[in-house]
Amino acid sequence: MSTIDEIKSRIDIVDLVSETVKLRRSGKSYTGFCPFHHNTKTPAFAVFPDSGTWRCFGECNEGGDIFKFVMKKEGWDFSEALRYLADRAGVKLEKMTPEKKAAEEEFERLRALLEEAASYYHSLLRTPAGQAALNYLYKRGLTQETIETFGLGYAPDSYEATMSMLLGKGYAVEELKQAGMVNERDSGGVYDKFRNRITFPIRDAAGKMTGFGARILNPEDQPKFLNSPQTALFDKSHLMYGLDRARKTIRGNDQVVIVEGYLDVIVLHQAGYTNTVSPMGTALNEDQLRYLKKYTRRIVLALDADAAGEKATLRGLDLARNALDREEELVFDAHGLLRHEARLQADVRVTTMPPGMDPDEVVLQDAAEWQRILDRAKPIVVHVMETLAAHANIDDAKVKADIVAQVQPLIEDVPSAVERDAYRQQLARLLRLDERTLLGTQRVRESSRRRHTRVDGLPAERPSAQETHVEDRGLALETHCLELLLSKPENVYSLDRSLQAANLTRLSRNDFSSAAYQQICELLLQALAQDQLDTQEYVRQKLSEELQEALQQLLHANRFAEEKNEDKILEDLIRSVMNLRLIRVNEALSQLRFLQQEEKEDEEDESDQKDWMKKTLEFTLLRGKLDRALAQSVLTS
Ligand SMILES: [Zn+2]
Repeated sequence: MSTIDEIKSRIDIVDLVSETVKLRRSGKSYTGFCPFHHNTKTPAFAVFPDSGTWRCFGECNEGGDIFKFVMKKEGWDFSEALRYLADRAGVKLEKMTPEKKAAEEEFERLRALLEEAASYYHSLLRTPAGQAALNYLYKRGLTQETIETFGLGYAPDSYEATMSMLLGKGYAVEELKQAGMVNERDSGGVYDKFRNRITFPIRDAAGKMTGFGARILNPEDQPKFLNSPQTALFDKSHLMYGLDRARKTIRGNDQVVIVEGYLDVIVLHQAGYTNTVSPMGTALNEDQLRYLKKYTRRIVLALDADAAGEKATLRGLDLARNALDREEELVFDAHGLLRHEARLQADVRVTTMPPGMDPDEVVLQDAAEWQRILDRAKPIVVHVMETLAAHANIDDAKVKADIVAQVQPLIEDVPSAVERDAYRQQLARLLRLDERTLLGTQRVRESSRRRHTRVDGLPAERPSAQETHVEDRGLALETHCLELLLSKPENVYSLDRSLQAANLTRLSRNDFSSAAYQQICELLLQALAQDQLDTQEYVRQKLSEELQEALQQLLHANRFAEEKNEDKILEDLIRSVMNLRLIRVNEALSQLRFLQQEEKEDEEDESDQKDWMKKTLEFTLLRGKLDRALAQSVLTS
């Protein structure tokens, strides 16, 4: 994923725009008053969360993505907008500066420090002090080989043993702090962070040291499980325990299994299930899933029966469980997971342990049982509905209604219309309901939701398969037009002549919706206006560095190099631009229809209606022109 895409995927355009514009939902998009032109009557400004774009259908008649929005709002150029949005999204902009090089060298030193600590702890397992720790690991079913492989160890029961070992190796106190190996006293001194604990070295996907997890030996100690503090190296949101050893199998099996505890990971690897990892935090976040998606899109969540069970199905468990090798309970958040799943186009499934058992216990008892548990993994929605039904008396109408109320919002979160239908059928079968009853509840719920929705962080309603298709077609056409333009820039003149002959406006950056495409179009027109010799080269030189990748993709495609018939290329361009505009006009019209509908229900004053009718008329006329022009081009070709 490019930096630009990464930023876009992390920033919700509805959140961003809502900071300036009061939005309200209408169908699959949001509308409000355009912040860029004076208007109080007609909310002609629309935001489309699915494509991450916005558009003013009023005076401005322009639109774009989050970059364009921020550029226009703040009057910034692209790189200023990029810096702001990257910062907001928590995305680092890569550039190898001397400072960065120095920082990288410092990281190397901290990693080496952590390696020293890991091998020190490991060596202590072989001493009398570490005997209890070693015995514990054997008792939990680990072999000597596994203990070696995972580099497990023992942190001595001392406030300065580890510290003086590291200082003896030439490290500074400041470095011990940066690596998260010591705690600071109020008085200013430092002391060892990990004491009398079993240590689990935590490595990144490349196998480099980042920190430690540590569990108690003395049942009186608190907390039971302790991780390194957040440091430059130890970033919980990007780490998965075991990923360095699991990576290869995850790719090979095209599946990753997520369990809760570090010991679960180790015991499963020992039993040959080497595609297993564990998250550092308690809730799976999108960063972690996105990270895993580099290896596979098929993700199985193995939850223990409590977490998946009656109390916790939808909310996650609040009380921390006393599991010995877990930092905290892994929270199962069905809504959040579904959203991540949709956004990342991943396939997330859930499976549960037999009641009262943890994965390590399951696999130590019968290694083959683990495979059967994995085979039972189900889509999130199915998991939730079955779990709810399994713990309830579904002959009770109230109970049925309650389950429907919990499951239905999840079903509506699923982007695919086909899947939604299948889930509704499944729910109806499970609760022995007539499926039409479910559809009935759905309509009532949706229409009341529409009328009263504020921007409340709920996901936008998903477009149906057909609507998605239209959105994709719009974007695909934008790409196609730019590819055609880049391959033969001088075609713009003929294109503009055709457009003007049909009483349509000339090509402009506003025909495109992303900042990248808008800039590329702008530069291309500039190059022609300045009579530049090499248009492509001009665009390449002037384009922001961060948008080069988009340009490369357009040029790389170069699908028209083979096309000898130049008329065909021109004709394709003219029709594509017209079709693109037709799609946008139809979008605007359905938007306006929706607004009129909604206002009728709200019975607000009639002047709004008049404005909308005027706008509707404008767009209808425009659509007529486009339709005629397209029909004409068929006749003449
Ligand atoms: Zn406007």
